[in-house]
Amino acid sequence: MPAVNVEDILSLPKILVEPNSGEQFASRPVELVTSAPSGLEGEGFPVRRAFAGVPMSALDPFVHMDQMGEVNYAPGEPKGTPWHPHRGFETVTYIIDGIFIHQDSNGGGGRITNGDTQWMTAGGGILHIETPPEELVVSGGLFHGIQLWVNLPSSLKMAPARYQDIRADSVKLLASSDGGALVRVIAGDIGGHSGPGITHTPITMAHVSVQKGAQVKIPWNKDFNSLIYVLEGEGDIGSTNVAVKTGNLGVFGEGDFLEFKANAKQNGPLETLEVLLLGGAPIREPVVAYGPFVMNTREEIQKAFSDFEAGRLGTIPAGAIGT
Ligand code: MN
Repeated sequence: MPAVNVEDILSLPKILVEPNSGEQFASRPVELVTSAPSGLEGEGFPVRRAFAGVPMSALDPFVHMDQMGEVNYAPGEPKGTPWHPHRGFETVTYIIDGIFIHQDSNGGGGRITNGDTQWMTAGGGILHIETPPEELVVSGGLFHGIQLWVNLPSSLKMAPARYQDIRADSVKLLASSDGGALVRVIAGDIGGHSGPGITHTPITMAHVSVQKGAQVKIPWNKDFNSLIYVLEGEGDIGSTNVAVKTGNLGVFGEGDFLEFKANAKQNGPLETLEVLLLGGAPIREPVVAYGPFVMNTREEIQKAFSDFEAGRLGTIPAGAIGT
């Protein structure tokens, strides 16, 4: 699991979880644990649907998340998506292993690999394609990543499209209090340390690698919801030690910090528990998500389809990849 790593975790700033004197400081309780079903996305790459079975109210402001892979492709096997539209939200694509090429109708695009994140605000409309590069199709190889959909409030659903490239070396690296875990802050803030990603809707997103047997406490914005997704490994979450493993999503209730542990014995190929932490300020508006569009009403979904058919969400650039 390349993502971005360090030689010496103890050289990093440490995350402090002590409360100011006299304050209440509560561990967020575990409210729900679900298990992500497997499916196929785009031209047929394997995904886990991380949010399946979780009520939209617990996910808000997040809408959808796929864990892409982990898959070890044979030569000729790597797959992507064809050109397709989006409206009404932002997509965040975090590549842990392998390479994805991205191109969009707004002039954005690039190559994302090993710990890079691509942040695309679809806003009022965009067309894009995500595909493995030709040399990866030829060679095959490891592919593993995340695609997360972050909702936009009604006031920003038709905002101009925007594209951010977040290179692996700009991710904020932190250590848990005893150095047992490496915390990569991709967006938002943990313990006063900010990551590089900028969203219209305030969120925190971090990828944490926990050494086997280690325990982690992370302070969490009181106004944000709180989700933990197990990319790989076995452990437990919350003060009541609810067991989790690869593909499980945990929803935390209200409180000041999260806690989780990696089992002393890991059954997979890694010596670590790999988790993604997500939180954001709930938007609390009606959500009507259909296909590639996330709007507030059915009428707006129908309008998105008719606008797409009329070419109002953008046009595929001349000479684009995949054409
Ligand atoms: Mn897409």
